[in-house]
Amino acid sequence: MIVTRKKDIDSIREHLADARSVVIVGCSECAAVCRTGGSEQVKEMSGLLADRTVCATISIESPCDKRITSRDLKRLTRELEEADAIVALTCGSGAQAIAEVSGKRVIAALDTSFLGMVERLGRFYERCSQCGECILNDTAGICPVTLCPKQVRNGPCDGVRADGTCEVFEDRPCVWRTIHERLSARNHPERFTAYHPPVCWSHHHVPREELQGH
Ligand code: SF4
Ligand code: SF4
Repeated sequence: MIVTRKKDIDSIREHLADARSVVIVGCSECAAVCRTGGSEQVKEMSGLLADRTVCATISIESPCDKRITSRDLKRLTRELEEADAIVALTCGSGAQAIAEVSGKRVIAALDTSFLGMVERLGRFYERCSQCGECILNDTAGICPVTLCPKQVRNGPCDGVRADGTCEVFEDRPCVWRTIHERLSARNHPERFTAYHPPVCWSHHHVPREELQGH
């Protein structure tokens, strides 16, 4: 799930200074779970922008999916023509999909933080940094690229403390120690020394694309 945070309303107002009419678009998937772009937050944004014309509000299921966004925005053709801008309560991918589909100016109302694991509403953890060359099968399912502050793929580093804590954050265990413990408990300690070459960034430079089936 994509974790998002609300932007400060003053910064949104600043970008909308010359927009007298808007359409507000929410996301009923990730941003709804984050409580940043669900129907309640769309309503809240509508109230915050009540000093201008809100031509329409809509919650789209997965606005990052251009097929769905295109289909749903067709229902608002007239309102979109009237609007000076669209306010997107979505992740950055959603905001750009809305802009590409509508051809309108889109103001992003959220900051996109990370790919999150959900424990419960309002509690999200980063567990994958999307390195593109996953080593979880050698690390007992624990991602050192994300959990080690130095992103060490072959660890531990020289700084691990004698008590097994991380040299950067002394209140945390070294993730490579945790990996060793779990691999040993699973009777696969040999995996600990598996070598992981550096990520070949020439294959993973942004923007990335996945063209499956082509
Ligand atoms: S190694 Fe970590 S960052 Fe890379 S793909 Fe796997 S879980 Fe994600
Ligand atoms: S002590 Fe472990 S977790 Fe901390 S930076 Fe070094 S390898 Fe990473």
